[in-house]
Amino acid sequence: MTPLEFDQHHLWHPYTNVAKPGPTFRVSEAEGAWITLDDGTRLIDGMSSWWCMLHGHRHPVITKAIHDQLDRLPHVMFGGLTHDPAIELGRKLLDMTPPSLQRIFYCDSGSVAVEVGMKMAVQYQHAVGQPQRTKFVTIRSGYHGDTWKAMSVCDPVTGMHHLFQGAVSVQYFIDKPSVRITDDWIEDDVQNGLAQLRQTLERHEDIAAFILEPVVQGTGGMYFFHPEYLNQARAICDAHGVLLIFDEIATGFGRTGKLFATDHTTIEPDILCLGKALTGGHISFACTMTNDRVALGIGHGEPGIFMHGPTFMANPLACAAAKASLDLLSTGEWQDQTRRISDQMKTELAAAHTMPGVADVRVLGGIAVIEMDHVVSADKAHGLAKETGVYLRPFGKNIYTMPPFICSTEELSQISAALLRLAGEL
Ligand SMILES: *Cc1c(COP(=O)(O)O)cnc(C)c1O
Repeated sequence: MTPLEFDQHHLWHPYTNVAKPGPTFRVSEAEGAWITLDDGTRLIDGMSSWWCMLHGHRHPVITKAIHDQLDRLPHVMFGGLTHDPAIELGRKLLDMTPPSLQRIFYCDSGSVAVEVGMKMAVQYQHAVGQPQRTKFVTIRSGYHGDTWKAMSVCDPVTGMHHLFQGAVSVQYFIDKPSVRITDDWIEDDVQNGLAQLRQTLERHEDIAAFILEPVVQGTGGMYFFHPEYLNQARAICDAHGVLLIFDEIATGFGRTGKLFATDHTTIEPDILCLGKALTGGHISFACTMTNDRVALGIGHGEPGIFMHGPTFMANPLACAAAKASLDLLSTGEWQDQTRRISDQMKTELAAAHTMPGVADVRVLGGIAVIEMDHVVSADKAHGLAKETGVYLRPFGKNIYTMPPFICSTEELSQISAALLRLAGEL
């Protein structure tokens, strides 16, 4: 069996059919924006390896931080013990995130960060005498991860809830906000979608929290909506004793052109989930942050303790990587980088507007999307990668890129040429 045959027979890949494995490249190494395949082909990672490889692959500052930490303390349990990487990362996170979020729960992956956030909401409501508040409201076309509670608030259609009927919790869904970030805000609550939120919270007294991705819906459709929706949603949630959870696992750390998507708004969530780019993509890690109201609410209730504690909580290697990545962000260079990405993408993708089959072209910060009027094949895109020199993995109708921030002008031009080629051929 060749290595690739072994892979096809034994290794499950994300969202794939083991009976009909799709085409797969063997990657031997990666550096900066580039991944190198076993046959020597070099491809630009136009996906930032699923949106996390912020400063490029194998960034020397991050790999050094991991090496140094590896030589001292690769791991130790977090129960009853603590360590400098966790503390230093915590200080850094508090400096960067909305000021009310003072309590940090470190965990392993984005989905777990969402589980933790949802559990915090339920435990908080229980602690403040609202034990019936165990459900969630969310907007359609969202994505929050693949574990059970996270899945229950993913879009019911693209998340295939019918397949899991009886296994996945039933939640409340309202339409996604209708006003786009590039359009003028519409005050009318029926038109802007807030009437649905208000009615749902008025009618149902079993809702613990409103959970959504702020401003940018990622996997659910790459949709960018008006931040004013969130400002007003905050007030509606407050009026009904419902918490507000922002899932910034995709949008955090500069991707939308602001450090956090929350920074497009004038409000702060009660609970914030971070992941993906937290370690600059170098190692799996995530966290859930909350305010004193929620944390102390849980702490002063029954049983007081928060019922979660992963084995690898606050893993020192991951904390060190995240601290190094946040140090790189602290230079502020990401602002110029994301502005450059959006300016260049807007110019170079303008040609797509008039191409047959293209429904919409949109750019925000370090995200550029060509939405087609039909579903496109990721396998076909895979087949074109060696010709374009860019690795792209479209989903649904969306051909898109989230390039590493460090991409040069030439590399970005190569990515936009590849996007246009895919839009023409898929
Ligand atoms: C990717 C993603 C998740 C899940 O993160 P994993 O690390 O894959 O578990 C959750 N929410 C959003 C918005 C995401 O983009």
